[in-house]
Amino acid sequence: MIKVLVSGAFGRMGREVCKSVWNTDDLKLAGAVDAHAKGTDVGSLFGAGETGILIHDNLEEEIKRKKPDVLVDFTAPDAVADNVGTALRNLVRPVVGTTGMSDAKIKEINAMADRLRIGGIVAPNFAIGAVLMTQFAVQAAKYFAHVEIIELHHDQKMDAPSGTALKTAQALFEARNDFRQGHPMEIEKLPGARGGLFDGGIRLHSVRLPGLVAHQEVIFGGLGQTLTIRHDTISRESFMPGVLLAIRKVMNLDKMVFGLEKIIFESAELSI
Ligand code: NAP
Repeated sequence: MIKVLVSGAFGRMGREVCKSVWNTDDLKLAGAVDAHAKGTDVGSLFGAGETGILIHDNLEEEIKRKKPDVLVDFTAPDAVADNVGTALRNLVRPVVGTTGMSDAKIKEINAMADRLRIGGIVAPNFAIGAVLMTQFAVQAAKYFAHVEIIELHHDQKMDAPSGTALKTAQALFEARNDFRQGHPMEIEKLPGARGGLFDGGIRLHSVRLPGLVAHQEVIFGGLGQTLTIRHDTISRESFMPGVLLAIRKVMNLDKMVFGLEKIIFESAELSI
């Protein structure tokens, strides 16, 4: 039995993770932490009634009380690094879905995990379809030098562009560094109209609207043709097989791993 503590348990993703862990035989939901809803039974958030697991607001105290093996974090960009630090310091393995962590914080966490020889997984997208979207885009990049990335999310998302869009751009940049779009003399009459400019000339555009969940298009253009690779997250359940796989995999890691693709393609365990 792997004991799992969820931080951000009251949030949209956190409650879905609590539900999945609660309903999975080889995992035990050991505890739940959130800045909100202290004292609420997590079962009431996903229709399981009374589970006896109450939400607490202090991660370190809850870790010491419940002694989990794994911390799953779906909180906020300004909270995640401290939470991961707290987990590592207490020798709890972090599985992190929260996006928007700075490069400096990621470096710190990496160094801390190396020092303590404890494993963790950080993935900006736990949906297998999103990972495949990026892989297919990298394939296409060999043949198309013109690309734009459009990501679309619900209007409560705190960071832009999304972690998935940044990771896709990085993967494309590693495949080739001479992307170009638009006219070299184009004039941006409204600042930002042409999107954010990533390394290698890759443009990223962020759309935020109620009604959306998480979506991304990678659009390539060439002579007389375009190729659109699109992934749509229709519900947050899509992330759960990836999260559960990460919880199991992290038990055998002794360093931080970044990206679901690092654990998926070596095991082929994720079939949905
Ligand atoms: P959400 O609904 O706002 O939930 C986050 C919850 O965490 C909120 O209840 C929030 O409280 C709480 N929180 C904030 N700081 C905390 C702290 N220090 N300790 C404990 N709880 C804290 O957000 P969401 O939609 O679930 O998304 C959470 C994160 O996951 C975002 O970064 C999002 O981009 C990311 N995400 C990742 C994936 C993936 O596959 N990797 C998929 C979807 C979303 P407050 O409201 O008071 O801040």
